[in-house]
Parts: sequence; structure tokens; C-alpha cells
Amino acid sequence: MKAIRRFTVRTVLPGELDALDELAQNLRWSWHAPTRELFASIDPELWADVRGDPVALVAALGAERLAALAADEAFVSRVRAASEDLARYLYAPRWYQERVSSSGAALPEAIAYFSPEFGITSVLPQYSGGLGILAGDHLKSASDLGVPIVGVGLLYGAGYFRQALTRDGWQVESYPLLDPDGMPLAILREEDGTPAEISLALPGGRRLLAHVWVAAVGRVPLLLLDSNVPGNDEQARKVTDRLYGGGGEHRLQQELLLGVGGVRALRAWSRLTGAPEPEVYHTNEGHAGFLGVERIRELVASGLSPAEALEAVRAATVFTTHTPVPAGIDRFPRELVSQYFGGDNAMEGVPLDRVLALGAEDYEGGDPTVFNMAVMGLRFGGRANGVSLLHGQVSREMFEGLWPGFDSREVPIASVTNGVHSPTWVAPRLAAVEADRLGLDQLSAAEASSGWLDPSRVTDAELWALRSEMRGELVAEARRRLYTSWRERGASPAELGWVEEALSPDVLTIGFARRVPTYKRLTLMLRDPERLKALLLHPERPVQLVVAGKSHPADDQGKRLIQQLVRFTDDPAVRHRIVFLPNYDIGMALSLYPGCDVWLNNPLRPLEASGTSGMKSALNGGLNLSIEDGWWAEWYDGENGWGIPTADGVADPDRRDDLEAAALYDLVELQVAPRFYDRGADGVPGRWLDMVRHTLATLGPKVQATRMVGEYVHGLYAPAAQAGRALAADDHVAARELAKWKARVRAEWPSVRVDHVESGGIGDAAQVGDRLAVKAYVSLGALSPEDVDVQVVHGHVTEADVIDEFAAEPLALVESYEAGRHAFAGEIVLAASGAFGYTVRIVPRHRGLGSVAELGLVANA
Ligand SMILES: *Cc1c(COP(=O)(O)O)cnc(C)c1O
Repeated sequence: MKAIRRFTVRTVLPGELDALDELAQNLRWSWHAPTRELFASIDPELWADVRGDPVALVAALGAERLAALAADEAFVSRVRAASEDLARYLYAPRWYQERVSSSGAALPEAIAYFSPEFGITSVLPQYSGGLGILAGDHLKSASDLGVPIVGVGLLYGAGYFRQALTRDGWQVESYPLLDPDGMPLAILREEDGTPAEISLALPGGRRLLAHVWVAAVGRVPLLLLDSNVPGNDEQARKVTDRLYGGGGEHRLQQELLLGVGGVRALRAWSRLTGAPEPEVYHTNEGHAGFLGVERIRELVASGLSPAEALEAVRAATVFTTHTPVPAGIDRFPRELVSQYFGGDNAMEGVPLDRVLALGAEDYEGGDPTVFNMAVMGLRFGGRANGVSLLHGQVSREMFEGLWPGFDSREVPIASVTNGVHSPTWVAPRLAAVEADRLGLDQLSAAEASSGWLDPSRVTDAELWALRSEMRGELVAEARRRLYTSWRERGASPAELGWVEEALSPDVLTIGFARRVPTYKRLTLMLRDPERLKALLLHPERPVQLVVAGKSHPADDQGKRLIQQLVRFTDDPAVRHRIVFLPNYDIGMALSLYPGCDVWLNNPLRPLEASGTSGMKSALNGGLNLSIEDGWWAEWYDGENGWGIPTADGVADPDRRDDLEAAALYDLVELQVAPRFYDRGADGVPGRWLDMVRHTLATLGPKVQATRMVGEYVHGLYAPAAQAGRALAADDHVAARELAKWKARVRAEWPSVRVDHVESGGIGDAAQVGDRLAVKAYVSLGALSPEDVDVQVVHGHVTEADVIDEFAAEPLALVESYEAGRHAFAGEIVLAASGAFGYTVRIVPRHRGLGSVAELGLVANA
């Protein structure tokens, strides 16, 4: 086979149309309908052919067409207006510029946000699913708010993969190559014009080089490292070939490039553009964790010890964990990591055992032979969070082994519930009504959403017409996709007449689309096929289902689930009521969410950390029908959709599926469909629309990614920046002192103990408001009383003798004796009635500690 070298020749625009280039290159168009309309108006047919890709559209315009456009004054002035609007968006102060942190300190000057995938638009297919879409929404919302984030990721030569089906419903993958020159990307260049080159050492004296592509996501630059460069050997060029493609070592190399190379790319970015260095480093899941190792290397080179450097790095690092599913967490053989960080490839100043310790599962139940990226994330992340309230709690329990001796409630993992970027996900026709009728642009979110409750602003008839149009558009789009899919599966046009009748614009439409790991239970709906058929074919209240999702290429179990579902949809008896659409991606998602009346989600609770597709549905007036897991466990209120009862106490997985599937069928049959088909004289389902209004009004403001990013700014970025600054000031004097103090406390801790506790002040009949006096005699060895807190942990005691709902209050030093012995005393007020218990414990105390559990040291009475 001949190796064909491909490249894209870029169009030279006439001067009058210069601005079109920036309008095409800046991805703000992906969430700004007026800019898209400007491009579409150039040539609507071509716009459809290039699937709404401005760079491709401009490239396809011939010189003649461009000259004509340049001579069209009306068009030129529209381009100028759009360009001015973009400039205002990019340079005027926004939300962030008007804020300071709650402590009055300045907010961080820059924040680096690392992620292995970014889902921004289908034009830049660098994502596989929820993690990437969330990262894209994070950047877009940061841009809208003016938060100075810099994204860091990899540019994959073939992105994820394109999904098609065989005749018998088996998933087949293809990997169309992407050409960076034909995408909205610019290469980062040195002053002399050559591409900036990032370089990493590999074992055996090899090197891994990468170029840095920059995507402009509104105000946010996104740096994407690409190893497909001439200086690399064949293998090194393939490091960024595919997203989640290869096995262990390939993945490790990708993560090295992302973490270590990513920090180096940030340095090049700042050097070449004058952008401020990040004060905070946020890693979206553990894949980019090696960034901490690189930052330790930098600090050691500037004179810190590795332990001191670790303190400085931790203070300014935020780690977000995204999954309680083991398959979602990268674990490498310790041996492999040793090859990359030891021997002839050791990083100067960063001993291998230090690196290995960061990812070691050295806790009960851990595997001593693996290196765990999530564990490293938590050890580097001075601040960490899960992505919904429930997931925060599940994560604290899952990782409590890292903080031995502490109750899971004290594990320092907080939560920030995910959100979605509404300008991207709200259907343009709905957004137009929101802007025109509800004044969403001018009103506060609360006022605007209460507009939905006010039928004088948008009547039921209007709202229903809008929802019905959106459903109709989905039906038309689904037929197109179904037709294409069947042609690819080998059907002839003559066999496909039925596709024109597939689905109906008037039937209750339920959507289900997501990746296909087992826990998401794609096929739960098939649990009782006859029952499902009866729902689909109900004579008065039929239901139709639109289903989509990709299985990881290496996951045959997932592919079998897809095949099972596809085979069901192929049955001529039901194929007009249930369809599987191949190649779920952002493009499909944009038509799917607005068109579905109901969004179905039935994960195995509590494995769905958050989920975001249901939020996008809600923003479009869809009602969620979901297991109470992830975000839905938090915000389902009984009137904004339906909660499918979970049987998570049932140990037998088959029985559990039976129970939950039966509950799902019952809900659809007895509640969802009757409400949808309960029409007034005007044909409008008033009670259905009540729920739609309630959803728009109450969930609308909550599910916003701007809300989420705001919480990251105030809850995590600002405190991390402050902690980082405090440790870095005056040549890291505080970082040095903290490292020294920790080493001393660790060394002395074996001699720390509670010797004896006395109490008094409470008679036989204790009452609320009584005061319990506690005095504790403790030994601290060579530590001083200032190094510790002696605490009374107290609260309600359960029958199992566990203190739940506890509080920890410090006692005060009252006396010191010889040989490191001290007495501490204080009083606690009995605040609530019922069974009460208390105990005394000693924990380390230092103002540089982020949480009481940080060192995992505690001496209990
Ligand atoms: C939102 C979205 C997802 C994530 O959906 P979940 O509910 O979190 O599974 C995946 N893929 C695409 C294309 C999306 O738009």
C-alpha cells in the first residue's frame, strides 16, 4: 500500500473577510447560534454537507465565491459585527473579574485543567463520553464566566472511534484519521516560527517529542499535545494515535505525556505568550496525575527537597474523582512504572521510591504489585472531590483506607455536583423563546425560570407546539440515521421503505444513550421482552424508544449487549417503535436530548457517579425517568420526573434486575404514558406540561455548569491558590517548615497515646443542656502540646456502639508533667436527647494541614 501523505491547504481570505478566520477558529461558534447562522447563510447546502464545520466551509469556498462575498457590503458588515461581538466576549471583564475569594484574597491568576479527553464539538472529536463532555462544558463555562483556565490534553490522531453495525448487530469500529490542519487548531510556535517542541525521556535512552496544538474555546486556550511529529521514532509517533486505544504500556506513555509533557507545554505556553503561570492544577480524574511528579522535579531543581516539594505541589492541586467503578481507574504494574521513573530513566532529584509510594495501594485490601492513578491523585490533591453528593459519600467510603483510623465521614473528599453548559445543549428554538419571551438574557436565573411557571408568558399550547416540533425533528433525524445505518449493514434501498415510517412524531418518545459499560445496563429494558413489546405497541398509549451508545472496543461483553438490543430492534413487529442509532456523539446528542419526552437512565446504584445526559434533557423540557443515583439522587423531587426504585439491598444481581425492570415497566405503563396521553379538549397534555414547567424552573438553574464552575472557584480553586501561595512565599519557607514538621510528627507518633480519661459533672439523669467535664492525661513523647489537638469525639451512639452524627471538640492544655506527659481538659454541652457517647483522641495539628485526617495519624483512647 502506498503511504499517502495528506494535508489541508488553507484558504487565503480577502482582507474584507479576514475576521471569518477567527470566527471559524474560535470554538465559541459551537455554542453561539448567531455565529453559526452567519456561516450557514454563506451556503446552506454546503453548510449541511460539511456538517456545520466552519473551518471546512471556509476551506471549501472557491476564490470566486470569496470575491463575491467580499463585494457584498451587507455580508461584510455582518462579519464585522460578529467579529466585534466576539471581541467583546473575549476581552470585556466578566463574572470572575468582579470577584475576590471569600477571604478577600485575590482569586488565582490562572488555573490549569488537565483531562485525557475534551468533548467540545463534533468538529474536534477528542472524547469518548461523559468525562470528556464534562471537561468541554467546564472550559466553555469557565470562558463564559471569565475564569482564567488553561486546558491541557492530548490530540489523538484518530480520536475515539466511529461505530457501525454488521448485519447481525455486532459493533464494528473504524478510525478515520484526523488532520489537525483541517481543524480549528493552531500550532504553538517558537519566536523563530518553528513549532515548539516538548521532550520527555523514555527508558533505553529514547525520547518522546510532541508538538502543542492550541484550540481557542472562547476565552480559554486548550493545549493539546501531539506525538505524531517527525523527530519521533515510529513507536513514539503512535503514543497519541487513539483515545483509550492501546494496552498498559501505551496508556502509561499517554499519561506521561499528558501529565509531565502537559506541565512542560504550560511552561512553553507562558514563555511564548506571556500568559501567567497557573497557580492551581486541577486534574479531571487520575490520568494526568504525573503532572505532580514533574512539578516536584521542577521544585527540586530550584532547591527544595522532594518532601518539601510535595507539600508545595499538594497545596495547589485539586483532584476530581469520577467513578467508583474499578475499570474506570488506571492501575499499572508497579514494575512498569519503575521502568519509566527508575534506572537509566530516573528523573533528576525525584527518587523512584518516592514516585512509587505516591501510587501504592499500601492499605488493607490493596494490591502491592500495582500503581494506582486515583490513589496518586488523592495523595497529590490537597483538595479532592467527587461529582455528586452521593458520589462524594461513596468515594469517602471507597478510599477510606488511605486515611487509616478515621471515620469515612472525615475522609477529605468533598463533592461538587456536575453541571452542563446550557448554551451548548439547549435547542436553539427553545433558547430563542427563552431569550424573547422570558428575557433569559436580562433576568436573573431565578426570575427567568419562574417565567416558565407563568402561563401568560408561554402558554401551554405554545410550549406543547415547541416540544412537538423538537420531537418531530428528532424523528426525521433518526430516520435519516437509521437509513444510513441499514445501508451500511448491507440492506438495499428497496428493502428500506419501512424506515420512512419508523417512529412517529406524535408518540411518547423515550431516549436512552450513553456508553455501554455493564453497570449502565443498556439491556435492562429487555428484561421482559413481552412486557416491553406491549408498551411499545399499546393501542392507545404507545411508547417509542431511541437508543444509542458505543461499547469500548475491547469490551466484548458490551458489544454483546448492543447486539442483543439491535436484534430486538430489528424485529419487524417493533422496529417502527424502537431504534438503535449507531455512532452516538455530540452531533447526535444535540438532536436527541431536545427530541425526547423522557430520558431514561437505569444504572446499578451507586455506580453512576453523576451522569449528565439527564441534565441536558431537563434543560430542553425532557422529564427524567431514572434510578435514584448520581445527580438524580440529589435533585429528584417527586414532581420533576420519576425515580425508579432501586433494589440495591438485593444481593442476587438477576433478582435485582428483575425487580428494577418490573418497576420501570410499571412506571411507564401506569404513570408516564397515562400522563402524556391525558389530553385536554385542545389536544394539549396540561398535567404533563406542569411537570415540564416545574423541571425547567427548578432544575434549570441547578444543572448549569456555570453553577458548577462557580463552586470549583470558591470551594477549591481559591483555597488551593491561597494555600499554594502561603507555602511558596519567601522561597518556600512554609513548605520547608511543614515538611520538616510532618517528618517529626510521623517519627514521634508511636509514642503518642491517651493514658487516662476522667469525666464528671453529669448525674444519673443527664438532661439536654448539661455539661460534661472531661479531663485527659496524654503522652506526647518529644512532640509539644502545640503539635496536637486532644479532642473529645461525641455524639449519638447507635445500638452497635458506633458514634454517628459526631462532633470533635478540642480540649485545652491545663498542665504539663515530666517525660512528655500532659493533661487536657474541657466541657461539652449535651445538645440532643437520646443515647450519647464520647471518646478522646489525639490528632496532629498544624495550620498547613488541609484536614484533620491528612497524615492518617490518630491516637484513640
Ligand atoms: C452528555 C453526554 C455523555 C454523558 O452522558 P451520561 O449521562 O453522563 O452517561 C456521553 N456522550 C455524549 C455524546 C454526551 O453528550
